[in-house]
Amino acid sequence: MKILVLNSGSSSVKFQLFDMGDNCVIASGLVEKIGETSSYAKLKDVGSDKIYEERAPLKDHHEGLEAMRRLFVSSNILHDFSELGGIGHRIVHGGESFSDSALVTPDVIAKIEQNSVLAPLHNPGHLAGIRNAMQETDKNGSGKKVPHVVVFDTVFHQTIPEYAYRYALPFDLCKRLHIRRYGFHGTSHHYVTKKAAEYLGVPYEKFNAVSLHLGNGASACAVQGGKSVDTSMGLSPLEGLIMGTRSGDMDPAVLTYLLNLGELTAEGIDAFLNKKSGLLGICGSNDMREVVVKMQGGDERAHLAFEMFCYRIKKYIGAYYAVLGRVDAVVFTGGIGENAPYSREKICNDLTHMGIRIDHELNFAASGGIRDLSAPDAAVKTLVVPTNEELEIALETKRVIENL
Ligand code: ADP
Repeated sequence: MKILVLNSGSSSVKFQLFDMGDNCVIASGLVEKIGETSSYAKLKDVGSDKIYEERAPLKDHHEGLEAMRRLFVSSNILHDFSELGGIGHRIVHGGESFSDSALVTPDVIAKIEQNSVLAPLHNPGHLAGIRNAMQETDKNGSGKKVPHVVVFDTVFHQTIPEYAYRYALPFDLCKRLHIRRYGFHGTSHHYVTKKAAEYLGVPYEKFNAVSLHLGNGASACAVQGGKSVDTSMGLSPLEGLIMGTRSGDMDPAVLTYLLNLGELTAEGIDAFLNKKSGLLGICGSNDMREVVVKMQGGDERAHLAFEMFCYRIKKYIGAYYAVLGRVDAVVFTGGIGENAPYSREKICNDLTHMGIRIDHELNFAASGGIRDLSAPDAAVKTLVVPTNEELEIALETKRVIENL
């Protein structure tokens, strides 16, 4: 079965085509700058490494997906979308409406639309992607209906108990306006903890872990018996860990203070917290590679940013250790989690009392795969598990289709 995974944003669509026989990627690509004159679409045939490209203005998602279809045809990878077993769509915010991935129906589309208020930067782009991809598949030559499935970043966290997902704010207001912790990176936390359990030979339903997805966006997740029981991101992907340009946790009184001083306007809050803070706000670089290079060159702010980033993660490991009671593994993933040994070392230093101890050489050894960094006497395993959110979406899509 071939499954196409789409991640549609407001002006871009990323795609990957999987062969679900061996869970391998056949082709990947993207359509960029939709709505601009400099739009383009690119497809890479993974088998031959050949790149297919179209550069022409694409005025909307409809034209964007048409360009994607043309590239599939000209590369000879697909001749018609009826060859697909299904299409899986990544959706950032499922709100309270979804506790599982779902087959796309008019009702499902209406619910995603209702949740757009919680994710105004993401859900409208996802919806444009779904609607236009459905048009593309509906017009295939054979008349065969290709199922579309939506997979949510929030769903894995729907098992978090109420005392952990509520904010201590006026209850009725929160209930009415759906204000609560939702959590994000769910497909990643789910995928890497499943892989970690498999790697360690522990049944997933018995597996306890602290999962650390550290990329430009970063979140921690407490997994108990294969279920998310807490996570650091909240109503939006802003809360929790320090990120490339996002503040993570902070006292909300900072905002009232700045508003009262006239240093910030209500309209400016979003950009202040999401785009100007985090590593960038502290040291002027949002990219961990740059932060490490600057730090090694003696830049004190970069050193501080690095220490703050690692310290915040350490605090969450401690908190989730307390929540879980027994931890089988700490799992690192994401661009930083997978590739930045300095961060892993700093985060795991001095956690021996909790059974967490990594081996220096294993931590710094270059490898792209799943690996165990633990020192021989560590009671808790520390693993690096490369994430693959697209594959997780493809697997979910297949599961939903097979259960129809
Ligand atoms: P996104 O959240 O956008 O998917 P990624 O998971 O790709 O982001 O992570 C991006 C982050 O990973 C950046 O801060 C980048 O500096 C960091 N990163 C990627 N490769 C390395 C590396 N080799 N060493 C240190 N940091 C790295």
